[in-house]
Amino acid sequence: MAPRIIVLGRQGAGKGTQCARLVSEYGIVHVSTGDMLRAAVAAETELGKQAEAIMKSGGLVSDEIMNGIVAERLAADDIMANGVLLDGYPRTTGQAETLEAILADQGVELTAAINIDVPLEEVTARMMERGRDDDTDEAIAERLRNYEEQTAPLLEFFAERNKLVVIDGLGAEDEVFARVQGALGL
Ligand code: AMP
Repeated sequence: MAPRIIVLGRQGAGKGTQCARLVSEYGIVHVSTGDMLRAAVAAETELGKQAEAIMKSGGLVSDEIMNGIVAERLAADDIMANGVLLDGYPRTTGQAETLEAILADQGVELTAAINIDVPLEEVTARMMERGRDDDTDEAIAERLRNYEEQTAPLLEFFAERNKLVVIDGLGAEDEVFARVQGALGL
C-alpha cells in the first residue's frame, strides 16, 4: 500500500529537507500545511486572510480549518496512488484524532510517525539563521513553545499506537536521510 508518513520535529529540525529527499527518491507526495497556508496568504484567499496574522504571531491556525484543508487534500488521486508525507500536520491531539478518522474512512493505515529529533538550542540557532518572513524572534519563541505544549504530546499519541519512530536529527543531511531510510525500511 502507498505509504502514509507523518514527519514530526521542532521547527528547524530539518523536516522540509528530509521530506524533499523522500519525495525525489520515492515519489511520495509532500503535503506541508505551512506551505499550503503561505500559498493562501500570497494568493490573498479567504483562508489566507484568516491565517496571516496567526502565522505572523507564531500561533496555530484552528483545528477546524486545518482538518478541513487536510481532509480535502488527502482524498486526491495523487496521494491515493503514491502516498503522502505529512509535514506540519497534525500539530495538536485534536488534529491527530481527526487524521486517524480520515485514514480509517479511507481504509488505509498510517505507516509511521517519524520524529526528527533536534535539541531546542540547536533548532533555535538554525531558525535565527533561516530568516524567513514570519521568523521574528518572538514568533520563533512562540512556535517552539507551541510545539512543546501542543505538538510534543503527539509523540506519546503515536507511541501508544506503536507508530512512533525517533530519528536523531543531528549531523549531516545525508546521515540523517540514511537514518530515515533505515527507520522506514526503505
Ligand atoms: P510551518 O511551515 O509548518 O512551520 O507552518 C508555519 C505556520 O503555519 C505555523 O507557525 C502555524 O501558524 C501555521 N500552521 C501550519 N500547519 C499548521 C497546523 N497543522 N495547525 C495549525 N497551524 C498550522
